[in-house]
Amino acid sequence: MKLFNNKYMELAILEAEKCLEEIPVGCVIVNNTTGEILAVAKNQMLNNNDPTAHAEILAIQEACTKINNYRLEDTSIFITLEPCKMCMEAIKLARITNVYFGAYSYKTESSHNPNVIGGFYEKECSEILNKFFQDKRETK
Ligand SMILES: [Zn+2]
Repeated sequence: MKLFNNKYMELAILEAEKCLEEIPVGCVIVNNTTGEILAVAKNQMLNNNDPTAHAEILAIQEACTKINNYRLEDTSIFITLEPCKMCMEAIKLARITNVYFGAYSYKTESSHNPNVIGGFYEKECSEILNKFFQDKRETK
């Protein structure tokens, strides 16, 4: 794992300090090879009326838009707070190589558990996916 100049975490801290009402979390995504900063973001849940607008999610969206790709291979993410489950999963989906975080999160996950009903209209829903993948195979 390549060692970084700490300027990226310092930038994430500066971004977190811009949060006024929000829980202060800042995030920076960097290209590992060039050192180019692909995104800088802070928490925006209240500001955007969006419970998923964590700094990491916003930074991933910004970086993906910037490089016009849904994956962020060969990148590192610097976050002032340990990522929650949602953000860690998004980091994995984006294929980010390295995660650097500052403060450990001792907060337990959300205590709200929705009712989950699986297999509801399963046949119809599965057919959409099956048709999609069948069409993909046929066009190969
Ligand atoms: Zn999160």
